[in-house]
Amino acid sequence: MGEPPSLVLGGVTLPDGRVADVAISGDRISAVTEPAAAAAGARIELRGHLLLPAPAEPHAHLDKVLTAGLIENATGDLEGAVESWYRFRATAPHRDIADRALQACLRMLGHGCTAVRTHLDVGTRTGLRFLDAVVEAREYLRGRLHLEIAAFVDVPSSGPAGAGNLAVLAEAMARGADVVGGAPYRDPDPLACQEELLAVAARHGAPVDLHTDETLEESVSCLGELAAQVTRSGFPHRVTASHCVSLGVQEPARVRRIGAGLAAAGIGVVCCPATNLYLQGRDHPVATPRGLTALAPLAAAGVTVAGGGDNIQDPFNPLGRGDPLDTAMLLVLAGHLPVEAAYAAVSEKARWVLGLPEVRIAPGFPAELLAIPARDLRGAVADRDGRRITIHCGRIVAGPHRGAGTG
Ligand SMILES: [Zn+2]
Repeated sequence: MGEPPSLVLGGVTLPDGRVADVAISGDRISAVTEPAAAAAGARIELRGHLLLPAPAEPHAHLDKVLTAGLIENATGDLEGAVESWYRFRATAPHRDIADRALQACLRMLGHGCTAVRTHLDVGTRTGLRFLDAVVEAREYLRGRLHLEIAAFVDVPSSGPAGAGNLAVLAEAMARGADVVGGAPYRDPDPLACQEELLAVAARHGAPVDLHTDETLEESVSCLGELAAQVTRSGFPHRVTASHCVSLGVQEPARVRRIGAGLAAAGIGVVCCPATNLYLQGRDHPVATPRGLTALAPLAAAGVTVAGGGDNIQDPFNPLGRGDPLDTAMLLVLAGHLPVEAAYAAVSEKARWVLGLPEVRIAPGFPAELLAIPARDLRGAVADRDGRRITIHCGRIVAGPHRGAGTG
């Protein structure tokens, strides 16, 4: 027998409906057993709580969070959001950026997220101000939240005009960014931009996560090309295509072709329903398109599709709460996923995008968990109860009993 567990989550309901004690030793689940009669030692009584693999947030923008009261997006669409953000970002002071990022992370942590990937603007116009501030927040949160930074390079990053931004991107990778990001569809030469960003990532041994279009223009085709570029170059790290809005309005045959290419290239997709429902389709006052990617065809092609929250109360989504259960709800209501698939998109699939190991509620798996008052998963996503307990590396990091566990 091993050491006694550092934490026992007593009487929790498992996703399959069984009631059990879940023992944790260090940062791993060590046993799932029949519930004991009484609390003892490291056991915390959590009857009435559903225990789930913790959600992860695969797509945030911590530089923009909580600015909705400071910046007005006059048109409500993407261009209005970008323009108002660009005006504001020139003036954002370091302390304010770090504070807002930290507040947003604590909200996400309280909602059950134990891992977050944030994009942060970098480039000749902003330098590395956002990166430096969020690296500081990341240090503060170490042990409570796994925080990954994608350096979201300004356009252009292709051709001679892109050299300056690419130099800042390389500096960002050296100064603490984990992932190469960018928005090729906004670049004057999207395909050259994608080639450049893949090359920078290859040099730094880093994954890539691109904003691969937030437009309902059918003519935009960066995504199919990205799959071809990744396959051709044998790029060895994980590649993620975020948003992929135009795929939602393409011809079915083309969607199938692109889906097959993404699956073959091992590229994951992140759908951000809240932001893209808010921003897209404003020029279609009737039969308004939803701005979501082609969820069902991507799943049918075998592509890993995660769900992201994207914006938290900023000009891109004034109502974001940093709650993955909100994202799951929208994937059900607007994306027509079954509840189980919607929760998998914000947990298992989101962790896959981040390159993190799988979590199952079984011995040997990482103790990255969310306990939430609910009878079952549908009820959890419907009620989105705020009284949650978040467990990261085997320790309770948010909610009641915070600090319990020694992992
Ligand atoms: Zn984004």
